[in-house]
Amino acid sequence: MKNQIQQLWEGFSNLFYPNLCLACNYNAPSAGEIFCLNCIIKLPKTKHHLEKENEFTRRLWGRVELNAGGALFLYSKKGRAQRLIYNLKYKGKKEVGVEVGKMYGFKLRNAPLFQNLDVIVPVPLHWKKERMRGYNQSTEFGKGLAEVLSIPLLVNALKRNIHSDSQTRKSREERMKNVLEAFEVDRSKELKGKHILLVDDVLTTGATIEACASKILKVEGTKVSALTIAIAQV
Ligand SMILES: [Zn+2]
Repeated sequence: MKNQIQQLWEGFSNLFYPNLCLACNYNAPSAGEIFCLNCIIKLPKTKHHLEKENEFTRRLWGRVELNAGGALFLYSKKGRAQRLIYNLKYKGKKEVGVEVGKMYGFKLRNAPLFQNLDVIVPVPLHWKKERMRGYNQSTEFGKGLAEVLSIPLLVNALKRNIHSDSQTRKSREERMKNVLEAFEVDRSKELKGKHILLVDDVLTTGATIEACASKILKVEGTKVSALTIAIAQV
């Protein structure tokens, strides 16, 4: 229970810093929402969940075998999806992850391509980065999906070894190779024989999904599908 002073303070600070929509940083959302109505309508959604072959799966084609794949939004510079991801990753707004996970979950409930999933596995951050941020944005996305789809979320199934900030001076090829080597399966017993839904924030080159999925697929009897919040043009 909040005490009266806290309530007064919140009311007071809302006068000067009202809660703004976390996709446009401009309009006020309806009570209890984090996005304004305009953004809910205008966020650039894809139809990937209905397409066996799409921009997402084509990007991974020939690199790793995915059962199905998709991104909820198209990511463009200064667009709504970019602002939403920025708020999620750098502004401490982890509720964005949960909310978009739920949004995607409702679409996937009746999508034939995404039935028979057993467990949701988020792409991990390096532990130092997660400690700095206070959370893993992909896990937050996974939480929203898990809630709506009633599928368990397994947060420590993968482990990330290399701290990617130290990679900025390396060439593109070196970075890709490092990403491939960065992940390890940590809980193979719990993944054995399962259809895993791998989740991440943004699909760019696809190296992260490729690396994680190929490590998971080495565990006996596994299948992998993958989802991200957004897909960037490369
Ligand atoms: Zn908005």
